[in-house]
Amino acid sequence: MSANPLHDQIEAAAAHMERIAANLFAGGKVEEPGGWVQQVADEFMAAFRKNHDQCDHLGSPQPVFGTVAQPGVLRCVRCFTDWFEAKAWSRCDRCGRECDPSANAITVGALMIVVCLCQACHDALAAGQAEV
Ligand SMILES: [Zn+2]
Ligand SMILES: [Zn+2]
Repeated sequence: MSANPLHDQIEAAAAHMERIAANLFAGGKVEEPGGWVQQVADEFMAAFRKNHDQCDHLGSPQPVFGTVAQPGVLRCVRCFTDWFEAKAWSRCDRCGRECDPSANAITVGALMIVVCLCQACHDALAAGQAEV
């Protein structure tokens, strides 16, 4: 147990890895994520456990946002939106290709990890080919 209830909440969610789901906003939900999705979630949680880095507004249970670009950093929806708008994304988080990516999400309990995907990676994940 840590002093911060939010940390316990996120840890509890992460402990149940079967609760990880990939929401591809335009293409529905990946029900059995594997491969890259699992890796993103694992790396994000590992970074969070190390640094416990978050904005100052996450006292009570609420949706929490993170990104691949800043592993382990948690933000409330308002801080996340501000940061998201201030930082233009032009690269796919999965293959690294420069493109006009779509925003997608990997959810771990109350945590939503937003990922940018090019069309090809989006389609591959949506088709359930997360290992590719
Ligand atoms: Zn905040
Ligand atoms: Zn890609």
